[in-house]
Amino acid sequence: MSTNSPQRLTLRPTALQQAWLQEIGIDRRLLSLVAPPEPGIAVQPQTQAQSGTAAEPDTAVRRLRVPETTSASGQPAKAAKVPTPTPTQEPPVAPLVPAGNLQALAEQAAVCQRCRLHEGRGAVVFGAGALAPQWLVVGEAPDAHDDRAGLPFAGPAGELLRAMLQAVGIDRDSQVYATSLVKCRPLGNRPPEPDERQACAGFLDQQLALLAPERILALGETAARHFAGPEATLESLRGSVLDYRLADGSTVPVYVTHHPATLLFCPPLKAEAWYDLLQATGRL
Ligand code: SF4
Repeated sequence: MSTNSPQRLTLRPTALQQAWLQEIGIDRRLLSLVAPPEPGIAVQPQTQAQSGTAAEPDTAVRRLRVPETTSASGQPAKAAKVPTPTPTQEPPVAPLVPAGNLQALAEQAAVCQRCRLHEGRGAVVFGAGALAPQWLVVGEAPDAHDDRAGLPFAGPAGELLRAMLQAVGIDRDSQVYATSLVKCRPLGNRPPEPDERQACAGFLDQQLALLAPERILALGETAARHFAGPEATLESLRGSVLDYRLADGSTVPVYVTHHPATLLFCPPLKAEAWYDLLQATGRL
């Protein structure tokens, strides 16, 4: 994309899309101010075998764009009270035992103590949705609403996600399975640490294998890095399609956009998310 003359979108939303844009809270004027992402940026894909080994600090665009007085997941920030994880001195966790089906995998997660996040969880938020999904939606971690409900995207961020998906013709109930990189909520809504993500990665890998989604939508930079590698940034990935290679050698296309919790605090980014979803669904 040229930085001197950014492309402007001339797309005219349908009446239904306009209604959903209003529901989402996108001022149509925003659409004319934000250029859609340029497609076709080459990205070095992450492989499934690499996915659980990221070890970099989680300095997300998402976090930079969220006011420091609030958390990225929609809860009032309590930075001074957030417990700082103690760097683990323990050896790497052993690989998960392969589960034959999703229910067996969920039962493993329900009693999992593979990382310190089990200490503060209310419920394990394994995932929920269609069992032959067109889309696997992957967030960073459960928030407080999810932790209470035991379901992913159960609060305001989830409501926005549902509306966003509906606006581009994706029905969350029948076409989407939603989950997160880690299945237990980090206390204080801090981002999950690399060792926590590594400990939990086997669940997501097996969910991918068992659900066989047609596409993946990664929400936020941390989730995007799981698939694209630890050096990737959300901005470098927006407008791109990653081919994420599974253990059986097949690939699943991965699209990225902002996490809905970020959009709740930064409404202007809704226009960018709108373009990302239009592109992911072939409408651009
Ligand atoms: Fe187990 Fe994942 Fe929960 Fe850690 S976050 S305790 S690995 S289910």
